[in-house]
Amino acid sequence: MSIASTPLTASVTPSQVDQKKLKSRIVHIGFGAFHRAHQALYTHDVLEKTAGDWGICVISLFSGHELIKKLRAQQHRYLVAEKGAHKTIVKEIASVNESLHPMLDGKQAVIEKMAEQQVEIVSMTITEKGYCIDHTTGKLDENNPLIQNDIATPSEPKSAIGYIVEALRLRRERGLQAFTVMSCDNVQENGHNAQIAVLGLARLQDNELAQWIESHTTFPSTMVDRIVPAVTPETLTEITAMTGVDDPCAVACEPFRQWIIEDNFVQGRPDWNIAGAEFVQNVVPFEEMKLRMLNGSHSFLAYLGYLGGYQHISDTMANPCYQQATLDLMLKVQAVSLNMPVGTDLAGYAELLIKRFSNPSLKHQTWQIAMDGSQKIPQRFVGSLLFHLQHESDYKWLAMGIAGWMHYVGGVDEQGKIIDVRDPLAQTFIDINDSHYNHPQRVKALLGIDSIFDKALLANDEFVETVTTAYQLIATHGAKQAVTSLSSL
Ligand code: NAD
Repeated sequence: MSIASTPLTASVTPSQVDQKKLKSRIVHIGFGAFHRAHQALYTHDVLEKTAGDWGICVISLFSGHELIKKLRAQQHRYLVAEKGAHKTIVKEIASVNESLHPMLDGKQAVIEKMAEQQVEIVSMTITEKGYCIDHTTGKLDENNPLIQNDIATPSEPKSAIGYIVEALRLRRERGLQAFTVMSCDNVQENGHNAQIAVLGLARLQDNELAQWIESHTTFPSTMVDRIVPAVTPETLTEITAMTGVDDPCAVACEPFRQWIIEDNFVQGRPDWNIAGAEFVQNVVPFEEMKLRMLNGSHSFLAYLGYLGGYQHISDTMANPCYQQATLDLMLKVQAVSLNMPVGTDLAGYAELLIKRFSNPSLKHQTWQIAMDGSQKIPQRFVGSLLFHLQHESDYKWLAMGIAGWMHYVGGVDEQGKIIDVRDPLAQTFIDINDSHYNHPQRVKALLGIDSIFDKALLANDEFVETVTTAYQLIATHGAKQAVTSLSSL
C-alpha cells in the first residue's frame, strides 16, 4: 500500500490541504527526518488553519535521492507519527508540493528553482558541517573541498552555501528581490553562522555580489526543538502496523515541538505562530533557556541516572526524587539565572520538559546524553554557576550534577563495571583519576581543566567544597541515595 493510493485509516489525521493551490514560496535544503517532522509540519498546520499558499520545494543535495523519488511517487505527502506516553497521533503532511535533487534533476534546476520570483525563503537543515565553518577561526573554511570548488566554479556549486550564493547572484542579475536565508540547524546563533558562510563565499567570488547580499538578505536565527530519531526499518514497520499505510517517507517523533524564530524576513513568511511557533526580536535568550533548562537537566539526569543504574532518561524520571531534583534544578537554579523577555513562561516550559523527559516511548539513553560532557558542561552548567556565585544564591543541584559527571568520567560504575566514556578529553580524565586517589584532590584536578571550567570556580573555596561534599556523598551512598538525601535538605 502506498500513502497516495490508499484511503487512510481512522488512526491517521488526513490532510485537508489542497496541494494544487500551493506555490513553492519556500525552498528547503535538507529533506532529512527533522525537516519532515518540524518545519514542514508547522507549515502544514498553518495551511490547515488558513487558506494560504505557502508550499515547500524540498531539496537534498547529496544523499537522499531515493527518498525524493519515493516522495514524488506519493505526491509529496507523508506521515508523521507523534509518539506520546499514552497515545500516538499520526498526521498526514501535505505542505511539500515539489522536490528536487541534483542527481535526478541536475544542478541548474536546483539553482533556477531558488532563483524563481515567488521564492521568499530558503531554509536549511543541513547539519552543522553543511555551513563549512572553520571552528578555530569562526569563519568560512576556505580549504573545505566543496568551498574550493564553489570559488573556482560558482555556477556549478557543490555546497549548500554555494547553491544559495549562485541563486542570489541570478536574482540580482534578474532584478528580483533576494530571499531570506533561514537556518533551522541545531547550531547556536544559526542565522549568524549562515550569514558568515554565505557572505564569506560571496566575497571570495564577487565583492559587489557580497555587498548586495549583505544589504538585501536577512539571516534570521531560529531555535528548534523536537526529538526526531533517525528513521529505521523498525520505525516504518511500526507506523505501517499502526496505520495500515506503507509510507517509506514516514517519520516518528515526540509530541513536543518548539520553534522560536527571529522575526527578520526580507519578504513574507508564513504565520507559523498560528501553529505554535514564536516570533521574537532576539533568539539568544531562548537558546540560553534551552541550554540551561533542557540540556543542563538532561546532563544532570544522564550522569546521576547512569550511575543510579538507569538506562534511559524516562526510567530515571520514574524515580520521584530524581524528578523533583530535576524540577528544582530547572526552576530554582537554571531559570533564575536567565535574562528572558518579560512574559516568558519558564514554569510552563519546565512543566513541558518534565512531561517530555518522562515519556517512556522515547528511549533516550543516559549513556548517549552523557557523551562529550567536556564540550557540553560549559554552556549547560558554568554560566549559571557563575551567576549563583555572584549572587550568593543556591546552586546545590549544579554541584551535584558536576559531582555526578566527575564520578562518571572516573570510568567505573557503582557495580564496579567499566563505563564506556566517550569524550575528546577521555585520556585527560584517565590521567587525573590515575594520579589522584584522594577525593578532594581529584575534584580539584577535574575543576582545574580550564577548557571546561572558568578559573573563578576553582578559585572559590566554598564552591570547591560544595562539589567535594557532593562527590563524597555519591562515593559513600551511591547516586540514587545522594539525590534522595539532597532533595530533603
Ligand atoms: P538526517 O540525517 O535525517 O538529514 C540530514 C540532512 O542534511 C539530509 O537531507 C542530508 O542530505 C543533509 N546534509 C547532510 N550533510 C550536508 C551537507 N554537508 N550539505 C548539505 N546538506 C547536507 O538528519 P536530521 O534528523 O534531519 O537532522 C538535520 C539537522 O536538524 C541536524 O543536524 C540538527 O542540526 C537539526 N535538528 C535535528 C533534530 C533531531 O532530533 N533529528 C532536532 C533538532 C535539530
